[in-house]
Amino acid sequence: MHILVINAGSSSLKAAVIEAATGERVAELSTDRLPDRGDHRATLHPFMLELREKVSGIALHGIGHRVVHGGAEFTGATRLTDAVEAKIEALNDLAPLHNPVNLAGIRLARELWPEVPHFAAFDTAFHHSLPRRSQTYALPRDLMREHGIRRYGFHGLSHQYVAGRAATFMRGDYRSLRLISCHLGNGCSVTAIEFGRSIETSMGMTPLEGLVMGTRSGDIDPGIPAYLHRKTGMDTAEIDALLNRQSGLAGLSGAGNDMRHILERSTEGDPDSQLALQVFTHRLRKYIGAYAAVMGGVDAIIFTGGIGENSSIVRHRAAQRLDYLGAVIDEDLNHSARLTATEDVIEFSRSHSRVKLLAIRTDEQLAIARDCAKLLRKEDEVNTLPTIPIAISARHCHLTRETLDKLYGPGYALTVKKQLSQPGQFAAEETVTVVGPRNRLERVRILGPLRSVDQIEISRTDEFFLGLDAPVRESGKVDNTPGCQLIGPAGSVDLEDGVICAWRHIHMTPTDAERFGVRDRDTVDVAVDGPERGLTFGNVLIRVSPDYKLEMHIDTNEGNAAKIDSGDSGVLRGTHHAGTLRRRATMVT
Ligand code: AMP
Repeated sequence: MHILVINAGSSSLKAAVIEAATGERVAELSTDRLPDRGDHRATLHPFMLELREKVSGIALHGIGHRVVHGGAEFTGATRLTDAVEAKIEALNDLAPLHNPVNLAGIRLARELWPEVPHFAAFDTAFHHSLPRRSQTYALPRDLMREHGIRRYGFHGLSHQYVAGRAATFMRGDYRSLRLISCHLGNGCSVTAIEFGRSIETSMGMTPLEGLVMGTRSGDIDPGIPAYLHRKTGMDTAEIDALLNRQSGLAGLSGAGNDMRHILERSTEGDPDSQLALQVFTHRLRKYIGAYAAVMGGVDAIIFTGGIGENSSIVRHRAAQRLDYLGAVIDEDLNHSARLTATEDVIEFSRSHSRVKLLAIRTDEQLAIARDCAKLLRKEDEVNTLPTIPIAISARHCHLTRETLDKLYGPGYALTVKKQLSQPGQFAAEETVTVVGPRNRLERVRILGPLRSVDQIEISRTDEFFLGLDAPVRESGKVDNTPGCQLIGPAGSVDLEDGVICAWRHIHMTPTDAERFGVRDRDTVDVAVDGPERGLTFGNVLIRVSPDYKLEMHIDTNEGNAAKIDSGDSGVLRGTHHAGTLRRRATMVT
């Protein structure tokens, strides 16, 4: 599947068409320096047009957009609709630097590729599993609830991706490992992933908390902003800009935010760059120790992102003297590690190290492409399942040769009135009178061909009218059912049993059964869009035979109650495999 992944930032835009199964880049376009044209839409527009031109020859299956903040609402990638867009917009306050531009990209792309399904993948989604104790700041409860103040965490696409790669590399199950993943790029965060779930992460309500980053301060005393305001008169916007854009490595080193440059200057003896590197790696070590404590141990520590993947010095400083944790670095392996597209995981711990130290190439674009492909496949599964035509069965009877002889005379042959949808079945011209303790029903249609057992199928209302208490049964199961008298032109028959209220059922072929993932005698739920209201029929019996044609049969009572007619159709929902408790058929709205 070809997925176009778009990451729209305020001054950069990265896009790639990825073959989701292999990770192959079919086309790529990116820029780090979008000229500011006043608003996000105007800034992104020329680049989006260029992108459309570039991918015009490729059949796109889906478009995945990276969205930084998914709030509490989004716990995974989501198909974009106007309603989803509105929800993302409502989160603008939580991520004013990111969500508005992500959204401008989404809107432009939905206009430019209206026929392709669009999806949003969120940096916060992986962290929805954070337990409350990690989510919660020690601020007044009501204030936090009112304003959505809590820790959300970011870089989730990367943390989840590298955790998956680590598990594969370690030949372990993702769900049996405790991992600490350090994403060190322009933005930096650490996550504790316990048995597949993010349970602690260093970024909080915004991507400002935690580690030292390129231009972001990470953790500071929360008293500092108020102190700065009092001392210097800086307002909130200025303090925000200070902490987000003028701090971190750039603020400490005075030499910009590029770690390569800072490493060079430290080697040359520049004390500010040396201190920047020390503060950066010290904070990282602190988090690693803390997260090992939180999980009660760790199986692997992962380094990723531009710095984590490429800087052996940063890895060395963060991972040395972790022997107490069971992590023993192999300095030679660390020094020589070079990640490539083919060698995307490198272990740099000693062979006896209980905890693995891993450098892993992250691939957030591929993570997004895979999420989109997964959702598309799911939608396909739903969309390609056939709808189930519904037929309403009026009361009728199936007779044996012996009974027909008594009612219509020896050797009587039924006349075909109408072929029924199930192959070989027909409604006959002939009818019988069904007599119960209370009343009689005239002209009950005989269905052919003849069978080995007499069976009278009536509705609940008919039962009541006749004065019978017939059970809901599948066709052919007539033991312990009430009998009745049948009257025909040549005579009458007293049946000892045979009256049932037919269990609503779906006829299908073995091929249909395979597509629906059901077996003979399973029960399923079927959703029907009736003209007045949608409803679900629960407890619908599956009957499989190569001689059947796909069709659901309900009786007149059920059809009337649901206001549906023969010719309507339903969609299969839940399945309960045969052997589970069967209740009396009831209609569930
Ligand atoms: P990212 O946000 O993942 O693209 O990472 C960007 C960061 O990675 C920048 O701070 C770069 O300076 C840093 N980086 C890239 N290559 C290296 C390298 N060889 N050594 C140290 N840092 C690097």
